[in-house]
Amino acid sequence: MLLYCPECKRLYDEAEKCPVCGKRRGREPQADDPCFLISVGAIWSEMVADLLKQNEIPFEQKSSKGAALAMLTGLLGETFDYYVAFDRYGEAKELTDAFFAQSESEAEEEIEEEESEEDEEE
Ligand SMILES: [Zn+2]
Repeated sequence: MLLYCPECKRLYDEAEKCPVCGKRRGREPQADDPCFLISVGAIWSEMVADLLKQNEIPFEQKSSKGAALAMLTGLLGETFDYYVAFDRYGEAKELTDAFFAQSESEAEEEIEEEESEEDEEE
């Protein structure tokens, strides 16, 4: 069973504790509880928003720019946290998981290609 931490807006397994605050005082999630879905960098943010919009999943987007990080990296350090209501969470999670699984395998292919080119030079 999933529990919901109202302070951090995270869902976590009953057997575990909240991954953010480490507390175990979660409660049963309600259909309209905003649940943390994913945190993405600025370059992915628009794509995640589009994905959710295309599937008509209402979401809340929060910018979570750490002050120190922002000073060092400017806009590149900015990340966006996405929250969806619990009744759409499963659906949204599947969409974003599939989306990023695809993006990651593409990125891995690119890395492999670069490595093989280096081998040839040696
Ligand atoms: Zn928490």
